[in-house]
Amino acid sequence: MPARTPAPGAPSGSRRTAAVFFDVDYTLIYPGPTFEAEGYRRFAGRHGLAVDPARYRAAVDAASVELENASGGAYRTELFVRFARRVLQEMGATGPAVEACAREIYEEWAACRHFCLYDDVHPALRALHSTGMRMGLISNTHRRLPALLEHFDLAPYIGCAVSSSDHGYMKPHPDIFREALRRLGAQASEAVMVGDSLANDILGARRIGMRGVLVSRSGTEHPEAPAGVAVIRTLRELPRLLAHTPEAVAVRAG
Ligand SMILES: [Mg+2]
Repeated sequence: MPARTPAPGAPSGSRRTAAVFFDVDYTLIYPGPTFEAEGYRRFAGRHGLAVDPARYRAAVDAASVELENASGGAYRTELFVRFARRVLQEMGATGPAVEACAREIYEEWAACRHFCLYDDVHPALRALHSTGMRMGLISNTHRRLPALLEHFDLAPYIGCAVSSSDHGYMKPHPDIFREALRRLGAQASEAVMVGDSLANDILGARRIGMRGVLVSRSGTEHPEAPAGVAVIRTLRELPRLLAHTPEAVAVRAG
């Protein structure tokens, strides 16, 4: 699916792209079996809980809406524990053991070994890096991002990585975007945020003057996306999208 619109951002004359920031979960990486239906069943089983794996997808959808609505303030462990708790409960778990199980799931979410890298990440980052593009990560998780960069061999491309658990605020709070810009030495007007959450990644970034590229890996249409927000299905579209956009000329690092 080609980019829906040619320009990743609101029209603004001769803006160029000198920096690209990526969300992490479901943009660069996705959870493996540990966090799928059977994985939840195993977590639950260790705590003496019974859950119905068939209810997993609907449970995650319900919990995700709740989590997304709660984003944007200070990072709080409890928000993510509540996500796991909600998934377990939607799958049928009940009783006091749900709490401990949810906390274990939260802790394990930080472990890189449970995750896989999308196969378009290295080609896209390599291509962007070859143009001198500066790149960073902005993530709402408590995962140790330096460890993630090492685990997935992304360190050569990424100049800064800001997690909300370290920084204190979660996307779409403007401070976490500003901190990432500061660390990379980039201006908002020359920066693009790439992520799978319209509310947290794209609208948050646009609020401080960055542009946004929404990643829709499932191909889901996003008619609610503002005009000027490019919607891509794979990161392989990104280098060409930025390079071919008159407003988005990559600047070679000096
Ligand atoms: Mg994400």
